[in-house]
Amino acid sequence: MPLPKAELHLHVEGTLEPELAFELAARNGVTLPYADTEELRKAYEFEDLQSFLNLYYELMAVLRTEQDFADLANAYLARAAAQGVRHAEIFFDPQAHLARGVSMGTVVEGLWRALGSSEENHGISTKLIMCFLRDESAESALETLRAATPYLDRITGVGLDSAEVGHPPVKFREVYEAAAALGLRRVAHAGEEGPPEYITEALDVLGVERVDHGLRCMEDPALVERLVRERIPLTVCPLSNVRLRTVDTLADHPLPAMLDAGLMCTVNSDDPAYFGGYAGDNFTAVHRTLGLSEDRLRELARNSFLASFLEDDEERRARYLAEVEAYDFL
Ligand SMILES: [Zn+2]
Repeated sequence: MPLPKAELHLHVEGTLEPELAFELAARNGVTLPYADTEELRKAYEFEDLQSFLNLYYELMAVLRTEQDFADLANAYLARAAAQGVRHAEIFFDPQAHLARGVSMGTVVEGLWRALGSSEENHGISTKLIMCFLRDESAESALETLRAATPYLDRITGVGLDSAEVGHPPVKFREVYEAAAALGLRRVAHAGEEGPPEYITEALDVLGVERVDHGLRCMEDPALVERLVRERIPLTVCPLSNVRLRTVDTLADHPLPAMLDAGLMCTVNSDDPAYFGGYAGDNFTAVHRTLGLSEDRLRELARNSFLASFLEDDEERRARYLAEVEAYDFL
């Protein structure tokens, strides 16, 4: 039995495995520029963030109907369950779909078909977090928030993702203020490729409660001290960092140093179909390659539930935390 954990940094579009991509393409009459799943799998060996994003957006063309989004989410939840995920806070990128003529309703209701029955089907509680693409305009983000208004009972929070450099958090001040006024929780990617200042800005200008990635905080001791003092969770994605060359190799990953510094880190899979592993695979990788002890792994799992947006169900959080404490590594 794997260690129970929450996954807090997971882009549902990044869970599209080549097999499902071809299945959905056939169902929707979409022609993919790859001969078969093997050739597509090779394309998953991209060079950097931009080449990954190009493929990521290209493959989204196969997602057309509510059922497609339901199938995508169900495939993720089944894999996550097998790796010990008990609670998942799932990102989605509506702008990438709206731009292709797929409506907000299709995306949200489709995902909800899977998420609404996830506890019964997969034993995983879920929340949905709507991300804005930071390389799109601030106005587009505001329009996206407006389009989501009828579905806010399905959406817990907002996030900020895609190409980071050159798109500082301050660009999205207005939409984050509007999201806060609607009672939405706030997170943002910061300090993955972008500088430590983006982390500070995400906290101070956007009011985020969690920082996604956040690795580059390690370049600024005063920022580390603040993140520790304020117990700001960081959703670290080790295998993603290696694949996108944020770190050279997994052995160079700063996670052990981050934990030693007292940072509240969690371990997540980001875009698991593309980055070589789901949540449990990331735990296994940091255990084997970085030599993290069982106490550290338990700390990471504990942090994942403490950092999750389960304030509406503290009883559930307590139950998950008890599972973590009772876990026997053997
Ligand atoms: Zn991400």
